[in-house]
Amino acid sequence: MLKVDLHCHSNVSDGVLAPAAVAAYARKGGVDAWALTDHDEVGGIPAARAAAREQGMRFVSGVEISVTWANQTVHLVGLQIDETNQQLTEGLAKTRQGRDARGREMAAQLEAAGIPDAYRGALKFVGNPDLLSRTHFARYLVECGACETTNEVFRRYLTEGKPGYVPHRWSSLPDAMGWIRSAGGIPVIAHPGRYKFNQTAEDALFDEFRQLGGNAIEVVTGSHTPDQYAVYAEVARRYGFRASRGTDFHAPGEARVEFDALPPLPANVTPVWHDWF
Ligand code: AMP
Ligand code: MN
Ligand code: MN
Ligand code: MN
Repeated sequence: MLKVDLHCHSNVSDGVLAPAAVAAYARKGGVDAWALTDHDEVGGIPAARAAAREQGMRFVSGVEISVTWANQTVHLVGLQIDETNQQLTEGLAKTRQGRDARGREMAAQLEAAGIPDAYRGALKFVGNPDLLSRTHFARYLVECGACETTNEVFRRYLTEGKPGYVPHRWSSLPDAMGWIRSAGGIPVIAHPGRYKFNQTAEDALFDEFRQLGGNAIEVVTGSHTPDQYAVYAEVARRYGFRASRGTDFHAPGEARVEFDALPPLPANVTPVWHDWF
C-alpha cells in the first residue's frame, strides 16, 4: 500500500526545513506520495517537486489557505493545483497581505504583557518575510524563555482571549475554493476537528462546502487525536466526502506525529487520491 502524506510545511511558510529537506525527511519516514502544502504560498513547490522526484516519491502540489468562516479561521488545503495559475497566485498574494501588520500588533500586545521585542524576535525565525505567522512568534517565545514549549505558547498566548491574539479576516470560503478550482485543484477541509464549532456550525460548514462543490476532508492528520480519526471518517461517509491524510509536519521533533507513526486511513473511507496514482 502506498504511504501518502498530503499535508506538510516548509520554511516557505511556518516550517523549519527547506522544501527539499522536507522531501528527504518524509522519504526517510517511508512516504511514497507527498504534497507540500505551505500556508498561503506556493513558492516552495518547484523545489519540492524536484526533490520528490529525486527521492523517488510521487508529488502532489498543494497549498493550505487561511479562510475566515463564521468568524473563525478555517484552513482549506488545495491539492493537485497548477501553482502557476494566476487566479490562485493573486488570491494567495492577497491573503498574505496583512500578516506583517498583524504581526506588529501581536508584538505590541506581547510587549504590554511583558515580552518586549517579539516582532524582531519572530522575524529571526521567518524563512519568507511575506509569511510571518503565529508559529514564528511561538518559536521566539520559547527561545526568550517566556514559555517552555510552543504548545504552552498557544495555551497562554496568541489565541483568542490571550495576549498577542489579533483577530484577522482572511479570504472567504467561496473565494478560496474558486482559486483552487481555477488552478485545477481539489479543495480539502483541513483538520476539521481543530475548529471550535458546535455541531450545528460544523454541519453548516460541511453543507456549505458541499454546496460549493467540495468533496474531501482530512480524516487522519497530525492535528487530530486518534478518536477524531474515527469521528471524521464517519463524517466523510455521511457526507460522501473523500478522505485525506497528512502529518501537518512543521519541524523534526515539533510534530505531534512523525511521518512513520501516522496511521493509515480507516478502511471504510475513499481516499482523496484513489484515482491519482
Ligand atoms: P497563523 O496562520 O499565523 O494564524 O498561524 C497558524 C499556525 O500556528 C498553524 O498553522 C499552526 O502551525 C500554529 N498553531 C496554531 N495553534 C496551535 C497550537 N495550539 N499548537 C501548536 N501550533 C499551533
Ligand atoms: Mn502552520
Ligand atoms: Mn492548518
Ligand atoms: Mn498545516
